[in-house]
Amino acid sequence: MDPILKVEHLHKNFEDFKALEDVNLSVQKGEVVVIVGPSGCGKSTFLRCLNGLEEIDDGKVILDDKVINPGNANITKERQKIGMVFQSYDLFPHKTILQNVILAPLKVQKRDKEDASKEALELLERVGLSNKKDQYPRQLSGGQKQRVAIVRALIMHPEILLFDEVTAALDPEMVREVLEVVLSLAKEGRTMVIVTHEMAFAKAVADRIIFMDGGRIIEEGKPEEFFEKPKTERAMRFLESFEY
Ligand code: ADP
Ligand code: MG
Repeated sequence: MDPILKVEHLHKNFEDFKALEDVNLSVQKGEVVVIVGPSGCGKSTFLRCLNGLEEIDDGKVILDDKVINPGNANITKERQKIGMVFQSYDLFPHKTILQNVILAPLKVQKRDKEDASKEALELLERVGLSNKKDQYPRQLSGGQKQRVAIVRALIMHPEILLFDEVTAALDPEMVREVLEVVLSLAKEGRTMVIVTHEMAFAKAVADRIIFMDGGRIIEEGKPEEFFEKPKTERAMRFLESFEY
């Protein structure tokens, strides 16, 4: 089967600093790929290249047989196939939760308001937040806001979801409620690329683990292989710094 996402020889520089060097990756439909690696190794930059938020210096990102390129005239359309959730949720403070969720479907996809609202409520229900629909972001906890951010990505019907350390800014007691939502998405067969520092979660959710260091993919494998028997010294040292 053809991969849904293909990255070929990706290079990304910030002036003369090599943030990504010859990164190659194929993701199959329904696959959950988890990227781990030390802070500053290029994980966020890589995700940003995947949805055309960064110009790349060399190589290719191909989604659904189409090249993703920030300079393309149809990049807005292409980007809709990719849902991204970041560490900071960026909800609009003066809009209610429901208004936040239906904003992009109405503005970008020109969907009917009634139809988008109906789906928004179903998705909010799914993450346990339908009772918050008329509240404002400041009235929600960090974990609740992050679940709204996930709903905001889902309502666009993306073909692939990217998560960048979505629990990194949360208090420990809220980490779990968010990871459970991500895990439920994995179980229903969504295609996802997840960056996380939660190693127990990575092990549970991943079909494949990618270990990055210094802008390169150093090692990749099945979670049981990676966590039990990392192949490289660097991965071993990285894993030693976690308890999971
Ligand atoms: P990670 O997400 O793995 O912590 P990042 O992708 O955020 O790492 O960053 C990788 C490297 O690129 C870091 O050294 C960072 O300082 C650098 N970097 C990221 N964004 C920029 C930028 N806009 N300009 C210059 N350097 C950047
Ligand atoms: Mg990062």
